[in-house]
Amino acid sequence: MQISFDPKAFAFQLVNTETKKKEVVRPLDGIKVRLYTCGPTVYDVAHIGNFRTFVFEDLLCRAIRFFGMAVIQVMNLTDVDDKTIRGAIKNNVTLDEFTRPFKEAFFEDLKAMNIVAADHYPEATSYIQEMIVMIEELLKDGVAYKGSDGSIYFAIAKFNSYGKLSHLKLESLQHGASNRVEHDEYLKESASDFVLWKKYDPERDGKIFWESPFGPGRPGWHIECSCMAKALLGETLDIHAGAVDLIFPHHENEIAQSEACNKKPLAKLWVHAEHLLVDHKKMSKSLGNFYTLRDLLAKGYSGRVIRFLLLQSHYRMQLNFSFQALDGAKTSLARIDECIVRLESFTGEKVGGLTLKGYLEGILFEFAKVLSDDLNVAEALAQLFEMIRHINSLYDKAALTKEDVQATLEVLQKMDAVLGVMDFEKAEIPDEIQALVQQRATARLEKNWKRSDELRAELSQRGYVVEDTPDGARVKRNKIMRVQNKE
Ligand code: AMP
Ligand code: ZN
Repeated sequence: MQISFDPKAFAFQLVNTETKKKEVVRPLDGIKVRLYTCGPTVYDVAHIGNFRTFVFEDLLCRAIRFFGMAVIQVMNLTDVDDKTIRGAIKNNVTLDEFTRPFKEAFFEDLKAMNIVAADHYPEATSYIQEMIVMIEELLKDGVAYKGSDGSIYFAIAKFNSYGKLSHLKLESLQHGASNRVEHDEYLKESASDFVLWKKYDPERDGKIFWESPFGPGRPGWHIECSCMAKALLGETLDIHAGAVDLIFPHHENEIAQSEACNKKPLAKLWVHAEHLLVDHKKMSKSLGNFYTLRDLLAKGYSGRVIRFLLLQSHYRMQLNFSFQALDGAKTSLARIDECIVRLESFTGEKVGGLTLKGYLEGILFEFAKVLSDDLNVAEALAQLFEMIRHINSLYDKAALTKEDVQATLEVLQKMDAVLGVMDFEKAEIPDEIQALVQQRATARLEKNWKRSDELRAELSQRGYVVEDTPDGARVKRNKIMRVQNKE
């Protein structure tokens, strides 16, 4: 390797929502950063607001690796809550039949966004037994009680540090048996005892319930994450992440349940991403102001462009979605693409060794430095574009050596291990693969779908995927192989 870069020279820091201070990311066990990320509620297809958060979490995992640490990520799927139950009843299907297609759509969308798969995607319905055990513990310890309606509630007055994450003052809250919430979602103003186990109501729940020592019912949303985090990552996490709307009540309640039960801190560091807005309002299903990934793909935008739009501003800043901004992301990405194509198809013979070594190492150092400072992607991209500008001008003056080109590509690849938006193989597809793509295009024109499928299968066997885009077929190395190669 010609470019030297030491990822361990940087202290990767993030702003902890709980302490409001920057803190260094360092695995508690000295081996792996254990990261829990709240996943989607699978009652519909996720919108790109949800994906802003999931792209941020992907960036976080990639950055942890970039700085030379290992990470184990869990992202749960909330497949039982008020909304999924309502959907299943309305459609007269089982909960599993209702949620399955949305789970599948979610995994497809993750791929389209080039999000590296988490290590585990636990489904809440597979952890009901663990939830029952935790609720029993909380009842035994006297921090939970059975309400007059037959549901089990957490008594927030019994947990001294309730409010520490969202910086609420418990004295100012109304709580106790006379004031409790049964819904999964509510506002800070109605902070009160919250439900751990919701008693079965045949009218509301149809046939959806689980047996438990406290009667038939189903878990509250918050206990789900406490249990799945404990089962898969242990009692104290290194990082717990989500979007800002989860700080209260979801994460506050997770802390209360887990810490009351385990007598240990739930997470060392809490990080929260700001929202994606539309016309300065949160993009959400309830406001109806949302776009799904599929809506945008159908309009001809690629997953890469959407990913680039979502990751380019700082995660703790709100980001306003507009088609103008999306087109801007497309233009910026095209600049990176063009530079890569130029470098990959470089035929210059100029010799003279690696004249740009110092410059490239300097840029990579700055890129890493700003990234290590609470994931400042906007500044990191400024470094990347500065490098592209400089390289293009040297290219135009025929001042690059072969070694410079190789080293620049190497730096771009290192940067992309974090960003995940670049396209490196355009100029690298071998002729015989191009010939197969051409034959497939001909077969499709002749509507010979059988032959076209055979050719796609052959390409896939050789490690290539074909995508049919509005500009014709594009061939790429298989994504999974690419990601593994990079790590
Ligand atoms: P849900 O499927 O509603 O449980 O949401 C999944 C994740 O997306 C959660 O972390 C939410 O906080 C997050 N989320 C929802 N709306 C937005 C938005 N407009 N911008 C960013 N994140 C969001
Ligand atoms: Zn959660």
